[in-house]
Amino acid sequence: MLERTPAVGRILIDKTRIADRVRNLGGEISRDYEGKQPLVVGVLRGAVVFHADLIRHLELNLKIDFMSVASYGSATDSSGEVRLVKDLESSILGLDVILVEDIVDTGLTLDYLLRNLKNRRPASLRVCSLLSKPDRRRVEVSVDYQGFEVPDQFVVGYGLDFNQQFRNLPHVALLNRDF
Ligand code: 5GP
Repeated sequence: MLERTPAVGRILIDKTRIADRVRNLGGEISRDYEGKQPLVVGVLRGAVVFHADLIRHLELNLKIDFMSVASYGSATDSSGEVRLVKDLESSILGLDVILVEDIVDTGLTLDYLLRNLKNRRPASLRVCSLLSKPDRRRVEVSVDYQGFEVPDQFVVGYGLDFNQQFRNLPHVALLNRDF
């Protein structure tokens, strides 16, 4: 089984805790956006699992879209140089946009995305991130809805990968670098 490969270490957040938190976030966002029709934008590929679960807890008349960014660097450390790989399908002018991220680490990716999206003049723009590593922040970015804080260690699962593997783990686990 995937969980048993030596590359995957201790479980940090199990699937029950994730499910509870995603449900609560869904409730909070549903209340905040009552009467609105937000566009819920997932950032590929890490946020797909979270995005798919979250939208099913949003009792709103919403639409979805996706963006993809790449940052140069090693498998576990980004260089901070971000580039847009896949853009949204349509304009966000005047829309209430919720950007759904997997993890905010240095904050450089989110900073890039927020600047890029703000230029397109949405009515509002908020961020919902499953995870945050506050100790690693290099730029200040505001996260409006946050699932969990994690320590300064590389995590995989629930959408997050290492060399494109482990995205399908149902929990968030530490990557074991010593295997
Ligand atoms: P940032 O630009 O905030 O440094 O990094 C954001 C991106 O780096 C995330 O969207 C994610 O793709 C990747 N990343 C940062 N930390 C981790 C981690 O612990 N595990 C995985 N799998 N990806 C991470």
